[in-house]
Amino acid sequence: MAKQFKDDVLTRRTFAIISHPDAGKTTLTEKLLLFGGAIRDAGTVKGKKTGKFATSDWMEIEKQRGISVTSSVMQFEYNGCRVNILDTPGHQDFSEDTYRTLTAVDSAVMIIDSAKGIEEQTLKLFKVCRMRGIPIFTFINKLDREGRAPLELLAELEEVMGIESYPMNWPIGMGKEFLGIYDRFYKRIEQFRVDDEHRYVPLNENGEIDGEHNLKNSGLYDQTLEEIMLLNEAGNEFSKERIANGELTPVFFGSALANFGVQTFLETYLQFAPSPQARNSSEGEIDPLSEDFSGFIFKIQANMNPAHRDRIAFLRVCSGKFERGMTVNIPRLGKTIKLSQSTQFMADDRSTVEEAVSGDIIGLYDPGTYQIGDTLTVGKNNFQYERLPQFTPELFVRVTAKNVLKQKHFHKGIQQLVQEGAIQLFKTVKTDEYLLGAVGQLQFEVFEHRMKNEYNTEVLMERLGSKITRWIENDEEINENLSNSRSLLVKDRYDKKAFLFENDFALRWFQEKNPDVELFNPMDQY
Ligand code: GDP
Repeated sequence: MAKQFKDDVLTRRTFAIISHPDAGKTTLTEKLLLFGGAIRDAGTVKGKKTGKFATSDWMEIEKQRGISVTSSVMQFEYNGCRVNILDTPGHQDFSEDTYRTLTAVDSAVMIIDSAKGIEEQTLKLFKVCRMRGIPIFTFINKLDREGRAPLELLAELEEVMGIESYPMNWPIGMGKEFLGIYDRFYKRIEQFRVDDEHRYVPLNENGEIDGEHNLKNSGLYDQTLEEIMLLNEAGNEFSKERIANGELTPVFFGSALANFGVQTFLETYLQFAPSPQARNSSEGEIDPLSEDFSGFIFKIQANMNPAHRDRIAFLRVCSGKFERGMTVNIPRLGKTIKLSQSTQFMADDRSTVEEAVSGDIIGLYDPGTYQIGDTLTVGKNNFQYERLPQFTPELFVRVTAKNVLKQKHFHKGIQQLVQEGAIQLFKTVKTDEYLLGAVGQLQFEVFEHRMKNEYNTEVLMERLGSKITRWIENDEEINENLSNSRSLLVKDRYDKKAFLFENDFALRWFQEKNPDVELFNPMDQY
């Protein structure tokens, strides 16, 4: 095996940042890119504050410039590593694609706002990372502001998320009294808002500052030492293996906005984050160092401009090397195609990519060939990577064709968009009505738009609001009369039956009345 190729793969670090809107994802990403030299000025990675990702504007932008792939994938080099950060859109742009992006990374960085603790969207994304058993690194942000007590935040992490934590560093005060972080890993104190020369204060083997120091005059220093003692005695032990297995999350404190603790975080992260991992396929695990190119499609971004029907399919390279112009197999179709148009992404512009190796993400021009989950291989290889997980939809609409004469187009459009993975389709068992399920509102909007522009069909969508979906074990035996408006019996696209419950209460009530019916949520099974 070429040494260069092996080095290239082993130095890749591919991750996504998971967080709730406003926790600081954009700010942290920007700081990471600044360290990596990928951007020169803050403000290049535009968040929703500029309206760039707000749904309405997004549609407008799509219209103006064709496909928008802005900041879908950001790449930079640091300390000999090639870092790929995948964007996980939040707010109105939250969709199944956001979840699927997490199937294409080898680790995740979770940002928590120290004043808010664990919030809803973070928890959802965390669960998907858990399903995949990938390592999770936690950055507790906004220490320059008053927040919750650090010990309380750790307790919440363990209770709500069920993951053990190891604080790599610990804050000394917070808000106006924030003095810095006590670094357990590098055995030093990093002072906040102190010039570079005096920033780091070394600790002796007892974990204390030798001799005189300003910090010692603050009561916060003693308090920190006490808390560190507590962590040393009662906290979890550091374990590289448990971090790699996703059982223990290293926790870092800092302030993305003040660019404090970010560099330490990045450097430590790169040491412990995994290089590209092997993936399961129909022919067993595929080694990322194997020389034959392979990968899978985890996201398809449709062009919202009717004049340009093309889409971009995002591919995660899982083995070997991608070269522009190469011929690949799509085992699902039993077809070979030449990959002549490919792109790589970086903040505001796209450039043609000539080469990419395991761990990298590339965008492929898609004239309508690909489906989400497709595997690409070369030569005689015909294996397929494991099917991507099905994500539990939470929002539903009832859908019909506006013009009854367009039924044929309507069905064709729905079938294709469902197959492509844009939206989930259900049918009510008793009345055969079509329901669409999604994890984010944007999916419905994209569906409506594409039905109109690609299948020439206007649709009527009646909002049913949020529902709790639970599939049924032994669903052939289910009594169809249990279906009513609060617990609606439906079939998914594979004809598996599920109930859509109006709310938690309806779910609990149903379970009490029907203890023999076994319900499950595929996202809870891990
Ligand atoms: P996102 O929605 O997760 O991408 O969050 P942003 O990065 O856009 O940050 C949300 C808000 O929090 C913005 O006003 C940021 O300036 C602010 N913010 C981010 N990090 C920090 C921090 O470390 N300290 C403080 N005080 N504010 C922060």
